[in-house]
Formats: sequence, structure tokens, C-alpha cells
Amino acid sequence: MEEKDRENEQKLQSEGEDRDNGDEQEYEKICYICRRPESKAGNMIVMPGNMCLCHDCMQKAFDSVIGGNMDLSKLDFSQLSGMPFMNMNFVPSPKGEEESYMQIPKSQKVKKKKADAGPGFELKDIPAPHVIKRRLDEYVIGQERAKKVVSVAVYNHYKRVYAESMKKVGKKADDKAEDVTIEKSNILMIGPTGSGKTYLVRTLARLLDVPLAIADATSLTEAGYIGDDIESVVSKLLAAAGNDVDRAEHGIIFIDEIDKIAKKRETNTRDVSGESVQQELLKLLEGSRVEVPVGANQKNALTPLKTVNTDHILFICGGAFPDMERIIRERLNKASSIGFGAELKDKYQEDPNILSHVTNKDLREFGMIPEFLGRLPVTVTLEKLTKDLLVQILKEPKNAILKQYTRLLEMDEVKLIFEDEALEWIAQEALMRDTGARALRAILEEYMLDIMYEIPKDPNIGSVVVTRPYLEKCGGPLIQMRG
Ligand code: ADP
Repeated sequence: MEEKDRENEQKLQSEGEDRDNGDEQEYEKICYICRRPESKAGNMIVMPGNMCLCHDCMQKAFDSVIGGNMDLSKLDFSQLSGMPFMNMNFVPSPKGEEESYMQIPKSQKVKKKKADAGPGFELKDIPAPHVIKRRLDEYVIGQERAKKVVSVAVYNHYKRVYAESMKKVGKKADDKAEDVTIEKSNILMIGPTGSGKTYLVRTLARLLDVPLAIADATSLTEAGYIGDDIESVVSKLLAAAGNDVDRAEHGIIFIDEIDKIAKKRETNTRDVSGESVQQELLKLLEGSRVEVPVGANQKNALTPLKTVNTDHILFICGGAFPDMERIIRERLNKASSIGFGAELKDKYQEDPNILSHVTNKDLREFGMIPEFLGRLPVTVTLEKLTKDLLVQILKEPKNAILKQYTRLLEMDEVKLIFEDEALEWIAQEALMRDTGARALRAILEEYMLDIMYEIPKDPNIGSVVVTRPYLEKCGGPLIQMRG
């Protein structure tokens, strides 16, 4: 019986060792004292108990020990003092031997980067543009051209990721692959507030199942000034990817309010939140390796760092560019007032989609620097939402606001109906508030509050019809009892 136990024990032990050896190949050794990985600190000396020390720390350890002749295997590390991280976990040896046995927890090892890893997906896995657009259509109303441009840009982006990753591992993406380097297709998105810029990007990331980080350009400042450093956006993406660097490197970063970092026109002080931020973003946008803190926004001595390569991250920058319409109009008017076209002057005055005529020149005049614009080769403009589109947004998307309220009341077994006229009134009211589709929810919240409060009081209520007079405050909703 005892023999059998011993056999089992040995079997378990060797299984454990096998597993550890497998893991070892994936992990890089790190110095137990200074925490630097082997790739930074050089070859490690493996001590008894599997503890690794770099040469520098080893030297320091020697210096701090008084006495000459030393046998490393007999060295008692618990006696070393004055060094950080010397609170080692000494646990009794499982074999019951005399010397201390130390376990290095997994969390203290750094995962090695797989040098020969491919892109992690196949070319056929990338959805075609028409498939991406069709799926976007289920959520995003209108903005046809924007959805088309974004679908193509995203498709090309992931094809590039695939081709570049294959090149790195020395394979060809396909038979015809030549030495052509495909450039990044980062996107600049221009559209009024509430026209669906953030929503489009969010939906896209969800459909593609890639991590997404949304950052606000207004909070970014040049490194060293009060505000977030540029790298904080990558740090957010890493967090969204569950600290998985490989996943983060295929993600999307959306930088909102990009118009707020335009070059300030008349300024005597250093432009730390405008032009300088554009300058610092350049490197991120075109692809560089950045060290970002894990689980924190700011770097400090205690937070571990991870290196993220932004080369395969898709950057989308969005903004309302409020004065842009005037700039475009002025340029177009100037062009049309010369020569034969002179009579066309002012024809752009009423054009609701004037933004779609935007050029790099207009963006430069707005205060974006040419190098920055060069890194955002795809420009998308979103239209201002019309009344009809707002009505559609209320009821048609897969998770439309009306569907959400209907579902909530359905749980009370009450049917919720909106009259068409009521919907038009809501859309009209939203247009007046001038915050695009964002106003819709605010308006509905206002009017649905009473209904949501009163209905559960009476279990006999079977249905509620929201009418235009109720919204105009000259009547109540139509309520019908069960049965
Ligand atoms: P912004 O353009 O200012 O980034 P958002 O994308 O944040 O606007 O839009 C606010 C909300 O309005 C979204 O959460 C979404 O529910 C709704 N919305 C905006 N545009 C659309 C659209 N085209 N289709 C469907 N819903 C939209």
C-alpha cells in the first residue's frame, strides 16, 4: 500500500515537472532582485530553488555578504539584507530536506513574446466590406457613405495586419505576395455631435470582436504636463484586452474630440495640449513600440510595464470640427467666384452636407498639422441627422430605444405603443436641441418617467399608448385595461 502511494506521488511529481517545463518555454526568467527580464538584464544565474539572479544583482549580493569563501548552494538568502524584494517565500522543501526551498510564483515571471507567432487569424476570417456594412446597418441608421468607407478601411487594415505578420514570420500572405508594404489606413471621422461617430466605432469593434479604447483628446497633454500622457490611450486598450498584449495589438483606439487639439492660433505660451499633442501622437499613429503601465494610467516605479507595438492598432480620430463648415464654404465660394462659375456664388450656403467637401487644406487651415493628417489617410464625414433619420433611430436599430422601453414594460406584461405622430414630435424636439441623436434618449426619459412610475401600481393595465397630446402636455397617455 505504502509503495503504491509513493509511486503515485512520483508520478504526480513528474507530471508537474513536465507541465512546468512546457510553461518554461513560454516564460522569460526575471531577476528576483531587480525584476528585470532576461531580455534586458542579460543571462541569469539560476540559484538553488529555481531563483534567478542577474549578474549585477549577483555582484551586489557578493559585495553585501561578509566573509570570503562561499559555497553558493549553502548560501542562506534569508540573511541578505538591505536589498529590495528580499522578502522571499521560503517554504519547506516537499522532499523534507534541510535547505530552504523557494517557489517563484507564476505572476513574477514575464511571458516571452512568441517570435514566430503569425497574425492569429486567417485571411478568410476577415469579413468582407459588404458583410461589415450589412452588420453595421443593423445598428447604425443612415450615414451610408461613412459605413461604406469604414468597412473598406477596416477590411484593408486587417488584410495589412495579416500580410505584415506573415512577412515577419517569413511566409507569404498568398502566392502573389511581392515586397509591397501596405500602409496603415487610420481614419479621421468628421461629423456633428450626436451623429453616431462613437456609436459607429463601438459597433464596429463589437462586430469584429476586437478590444476598443475610447480616449478623449482634450485630456491629453505633452508628456510631463498635467493631464494624461499620450501612452495612456494604449494603456486603456491593454486594459480593454484584459492585459493580453497580442489581443491589444489588434485592437482599435478611438480618439474623440480630435478637433480640440488643433494648433492654437494666437498664443505666446507653449501649446502643450494642442500642436504638441499632435506631434506626440504621430509616432503612435504610424506604429511604434510603447511601454505602458499595466493596470494604471500613469507610469510609476511600482506598476509593471508591458511593451505594446501600435503598428497593427487601428486608430480612428473623431471630432465635430465646429468651424469647418465656414472654412469649406469660404474656399468653395472663392473658387466659384472666379471666371465663368461666378454666378454660382453662395450655392453652398444652404448645402446641409457641406462637410463632405472637406479637403486636407481645410483641415490644415483649421489647425491640424500636415504630418498628423498624413497619418490619417482615410477621411470619413458623417451627415447631420434629419428628422426622418431620427424617427428611424428611435425604432429601427437592433437595440433601438423604443425596443428597450417596450421590453421593460413587457416584463410587467404591459404593451407599449408609440403613435407615429408622437415619434415625429420627439424627433422634431431633438432637432431643436441640436445634439443629434443624443437628445432622443433625454427626451424619452423625461416623458417615460411618469409612465414607468405609474404602470406597475395597477396590475389591470394592459397597454399604454404614447400620444402626441401627452408629449405636448395637453393630455395623458391612452391607457387600456386587460380583458
Ligand atoms: P457622437 O457623434 O457625438 O460621437 P454618439 O455616437 O455618441 O455621437 O451618439 C450618441 C447616441 O446616439 C449613440 O449612443 C446612439 O445610441 C445614438 N445614435 C447616434 N447616431 C446614430 C445612428 N446613426 N444610428 C443609430 N443610433 C445613433
